[in-house]
Amino acid sequence: MDGDIAPLAQLVELAEKYGVWLVVDDAHGFGVLGPQGRGALAALALRSKHLVYVGTLGKAAGVSGAFVCADAVIIEWLVQRARPYIFTTACGSAASVTRC
Ligand SMILES: *Cc1c(COP(=O)(O)O)cnc(C)c1O
Repeated sequence: MDGDIAPLAQLVELAEKYGVWLVVDDAHGFGVLGPQGRGALAALALRSKHLVYVGTLGKAAGVSGAFVCADAVIIEWLVQRARPYIFTTACGSAASVTRC
C-alpha cells in the first residue's frame, strides 16, 4: 500500500534453494506494476516453479474476485481443497485458479 516491494528476487532464490513455495499476494501490484500492469513478478521478470501468485481484482481492476497462478500441483490441491471459493458467484467470493 505504501509502494514498498518485498525483495522478491532474493525470496524466490531462497524458495528454490530450500524447495518451498513462495506465496506472493500482489493485491497492490496487479494492474499497476510491470508491463501492462501484470504485477510485481512481471515488473522484475521473475519466474519460478516455486511461486504461488495471488492476484485480487478488487483494487486496480475495480471488480470483485481473485485468482491464483501456480504449478499444476498447487492448482489441483486448491481445486480439491478450496472448492467453496471456486466458481462461486457470491459477492466478494468469486475466484478462479489458473495453471501457468
Ligand atoms: C485488498 C487485499 C486483499 C483482498 O482483496 P479483495 O479484492 O478485497 O478480495 C488481499 N491481499 C491484500 C494484501 C490486500 O490489500
